[in-house]
Amino acid sequence: MNPYDFVPVSWDISPERHPSTMHDKFEGISGHLTAVISAETPVFIKTNNNHTPKTFIKNKDNKYIIPATSLKGLFRNLVETVANGCFSKFDEIYRKGNQKGKINLKDGLPEAFRLCFKPENLCTSCRIFGWLKKEGVFEGKVCFQDAICINPIEHEPIHTIDLMGPKPHHTAFYMKEDKIAGRKYYFHFPQGLTLDNRDSKFSQYIIPLDKGSKFSFSAHFTNLEESEWQALLYAIVLEESMRHKIGYAKPSGLGSIKIEITNLTLRNMKKRYTDFANSEIHYSKEINPQDLNNYIASQISGFTTNTNSPVLNSLRYIWNWDPNNTTSYHYPIAVDRNWFENNHDVPIKNTP
Ligand SMILES: [Zn+2]
Repeated sequence: MNPYDFVPVSWDISPERHPSTMHDKFEGISGHLTAVISAETPVFIKTNNNHTPKTFIKNKDNKYIIPATSLKGLFRNLVETVANGCFSKFDEIYRKGNQKGKINLKDGLPEAFRLCFKPENLCTSCRIFGWLKKEGVFEGKVCFQDAICINPIEHEPIHTIDLMGPKPHHTAFYMKEDKIAGRKYYFHFPQGLTLDNRDSKFSQYIIPLDKGSKFSFSAHFTNLEESEWQALLYAIVLEESMRHKIGYAKPSGLGSIKIEITNLTLRNMKKRYTDFANSEIHYSKEINPQDLNNYIASQISGFTTNTNSPVLNSLRYIWNWDPNNTTSYHYPIAVDRNWFENNHDVPIKNTP
């Protein structure tokens, strides 16, 4: 089975756009949170040095980190998916494919779903995470810190499988009728990694951190509308049966993580000047886990109880975490080198 699939887009519903609340007004939901990331499989985030094998990125204190930019990218992509945002990374991802000249995927993305183009008219994800174009800039309402590894468990060095770039010329995967198939997500490999025992041109020799490694991060947020806060919170915690996937070598099975919020503080900025003592609410996993869980469950119920959404159901299917799942995920060319040439019309679900 192919290691990734696409979460579809409801093309008949355009992203809802409106002006964002301004940073100088204290409206909406503000506060901060801390969370713990637990690796369920080995994880690897590349660093920019030439070591062989390649090593996991560290901060200036020599601690392993998942950089804030990686976290922001993960959550932004999820909010774009579940809250019907614009495709902020579309051009970047598909430029390579377009250069090959085999297919112009840009024609497969309707105008309404392209990156927002007016600062006074932004989609949910651009309002939360920010927006940047030559026409202007809107600083987002959430700010992540690097996730710092609190108990690194180093894995032995591994050779990944051949990691290839997108293959957008294989239209049976990337297109559905005249539109792109959706947003790409990789399946989890709970039974272990798919590796190579040699050093080939497209494989990488890396030292991941092993499952069981834990990271801690914090984030603060200001002036979120209720629907923005709920989408952000859902992107961070997802559902009990799901896990996130982050970092490098996802087609080899790396990057499955569980994220759990441990502390949450909500601040009423208006009350802050009039009734300071009652201007904050704290939820803590250590002090009262039930209160924290109940609050989060109530905020994300619009997502978790929605069982009719093709978008959510598809994300649930691809990111389902089932330790007993024995499906073997690999690129079709691992079975047949000429698979793409010989199977032009075969969709992902029929891959060997
Ligand atoms: Zn947008």
